[in-house]
Amino acid sequence: MPPSERVGFAVVGLGRLSLEEILPAFGEAKKAKPVALMSGSPEKARLTAAQYGIPEDAIYAYDQWDRLKANPAVKVVYIVTPNGLHRDQVLAAAAAGKHVLCEKPMANTSAEAQEMVEACNKAGVKLMIAYRCQYEPFNREVVRLARSGEFGRVKMVEAFNGQTTALPEQWRLRKALAGGGALPDIGIYCLNGVRALLGEEPVSIQAQIVTPENDPRFKEVEESVAFTLRFPSGVIAQCGTSYGVHESRELRVHTTTGSLDLHNAFAYRGQRLTVAHREGSHVQRDEPVLTHKNQFALELDHMAECILKDRRPRTPGEEGLQDMILMEAIYAAARSGQPVTV
Ligand code: NDP
Repeated sequence: MPPSERVGFAVVGLGRLSLEEILPAFGEAKKAKPVALMSGSPEKARLTAAQYGIPEDAIYAYDQWDRLKANPAVKVVYIVTPNGLHRDQVLAAAAAGKHVLCEKPMANTSAEAQEMVEACNKAGVKLMIAYRCQYEPFNREVVRLARSGEFGRVKMVEAFNGQTTALPEQWRLRKALAGGGALPDIGIYCLNGVRALLGEEPVSIQAQIVTPENDPRFKEVEESVAFTLRFPSGVIAQCGTSYGVHESRELRVHTTTGSLDLHNAFAYRGQRLTVAHREGSHVQRDEPVLTHKNQFALELDHMAECILKDRRPRTPGEEGLQDMILMEAIYAAARSGQPVTV
């Protein structure tokens, strides 16, 4: 699609994700283009705008929503700031009449998420949550294979997303800005991934949280969470997340006649899929060949396509809201030590 016809995005918040992944991904997108920036760092915004051919008068401070509203080139506002700021910024974007793409987790609480869904509905703008893995080809292939019946029925799923979080001063370790610790930041990929895989909602949740005492990083938020989800079909999903481990991002699906292993499942790149399938006494092992694609570019193009064709996003605000509700149930289950019915 020629650049003049592509959908214009304003990127709000120029942190690591925006600078290292999202803005570069526009170069691989076919239907989306960056046309404006909102930032609290004018010099960084000016340099970034120059790098991406964004005019200087399309740089906004965080309190300049009226100016952004008046820019007709901006069709979508992409919120990429700390989680605790998403609610106010999504409401401001909706009030400006712009469609919204919002980073995960959608908000700090389900009440905020509910408000965001309602505000966007009322303003008649689309709201999509940036669940990039739902646009990533290897994750999509696992969903396809699991549902195809080729491997029999899914019985159990294991999902783990962990990394080491250093820098005790960063916003991810502050409850007001992050909403929680490893769970809403990276555990959410396990939760959302399992729901997307199975296409059903859990009915019962059990959970445990462990946070080291006397570690300056974990004064406000948790380090490690293990949670088990039981689904109406009988599938059990065992999920884990931690800020205190070596990087590991795995998804494993166990079926009646085989298994699907997605290595680096929730990473930005480097996915590898191995499958095993039993036929009689023989186990066939394969590594399906798929093309790696930039999942951020695919996500941007999906949002652009939804605007161009007036379609509902695959990962709408309601999808983010459901994860917020379930994460609150996970915390409640961990606190009580009892299963929580949802
Ligand atoms: P960073 O800390 O790297 O950047 C956040 C940016 O937000 C800052 O650079 C700043 O931009 C702006 N900001 C505005 N107010 C504040 C504040 N009070 N404290 C800190 N920053 C502020 O975060 P990330 O880019 O890693 O994360 C941003 C969002 O993206 C989060 O919601 C996170 O969960 C999500 N994320 C999603 C990922 C994915 O794979 N989908 C991966 C990583 C993050 P400026 O200087 O321009 O004002």
